[in-house]
Amino acid sequence: MATISNRELFLRNIAQTSTSPVNIEIERAKGIYMYSPDGKKYFDLISGVNVSSLGHGHPDVIEAVKNQIDQYMHLLVYGELVQSPQVKLAGFLAEHLSDNLSKVYFVNSGTEAVEGALKLARKYTGRPEVAAFTNAYHGSTAGALSIMGGDYFKSGYHPLVPGTKFLEYNNFHDLNKITERTACVVAEVMQAEAGMIVAEKDFLLMLRKRCDETGTLLIFDEVQTAFGRLGKFFGHELYNVVPDILVLAKGLGGGMPLGTFISSSQIMDVLSDNPPLGHITTFGGHPVCCAAGLKTLSIIEEDKLYEQVGHKEELFRKLLKHELIKEIRGIGLMLAVEFGQTDIMIKVFNKGLELGFITDWFLFCETAVRISPPLNITDEEIAEVCQMILKAIDSVK
Ligand code: PLP
Repeated sequence: MATISNRELFLRNIAQTSTSPVNIEIERAKGIYMYSPDGKKYFDLISGVNVSSLGHGHPDVIEAVKNQIDQYMHLLVYGELVQSPQVKLAGFLAEHLSDNLSKVYFVNSGTEAVEGALKLARKYTGRPEVAAFTNAYHGSTAGALSIMGGDYFKSGYHPLVPGTKFLEYNNFHDLNKITERTACVVAEVMQAEAGMIVAEKDFLLMLRKRCDETGTLLIFDEVQTAFGRLGKFFGHELYNVVPDILVLAKGLGGGMPLGTFISSSQIMDVLSDNPPLGHITTFGGHPVCCAAGLKTLSIIEEDKLYEQVGHKEELFRKLLKHELIKEIRGIGLMLAVEFGQTDIMIKVFNKGLELGFITDWFLFCETAVRISPPLNITDEEIAEVCQMILKAIDSVK
């Protein structure tokens, strides 16, 4: 009997997210490369979408994971037992954040962290409305989907959570839509899935101001922008604007699933009383994920990887010159190469797979490809992948 390949099994038994998955099998991954069983290597230009900040299989992170597995894996639902990897990671985060961001609620993903943050803001303020921005993605469960800033992906799932309002990013006038009825505004410090839309000067400052005027909680979703990617440890440091609630995930777990929402004691305490158990999670803050995350963030800090990000951005911008590239948007190692046409983007993406690099496009921008490599990408690797990207663009007829 003929054996079924893993690729066939993937299509047969793995629930699909679209009708056109990449469907390349990866057997192992090391550094900036992923390898298929036939030995072909793929340059990871997107770090699993801002997850693998140190590339794949960093030896220190693997050691931290193994050490923690030797101690214990899951013990009990989140929030009952004192677990060293959890408290150490929470301490690390609090130490690197403003004083008002000291209470860390660990969950499993970015989506769940957004859900937790929305619930927290609702309960703390007692207000009926939440606001978010058009062309923003914050996750895929009911609450997070409700604040997704575009109708296409939401169709088919209504009714969603009522009381959501949408503002246009960088539209100062729209800030007036935030009122005393608004519990919270969820914003990114750079809009990722819109295709790397950078906040205009003073926009986040004015957003903070309007929230202060109306008593609305400001939630920054830094699921994509944190941990050095924009050249600062946290993206909001670039703008000198501090949120009331900060949401983190993706790179937080150093390749393991982990998310968190962080706030002050005053705000966070409403989840633990009257009634208690405002958010419940079995695996949130899994000790192995926290150990991997703490090691990863410590390396980013010790090696000051964020300080090299500006230089690496410049190198990409210098090397990626082509008549078909209309613009390169973004900050640091979070860039969008804009072609202005979807068919060009698709051809570059497909040619990339053939040449051996993996990129991606954006939920709300199908004319650009993503560049979000590991932070420890070298200058030589940047030169190598830019050559491949230019070759892929050259092949577009
Ligand atoms: N928020 C932002 C800005 C994201 O980009 C994502 C995922 O891409 C999420 C939230 C949801 O995170 P997760 O996929 O871990 O649930």
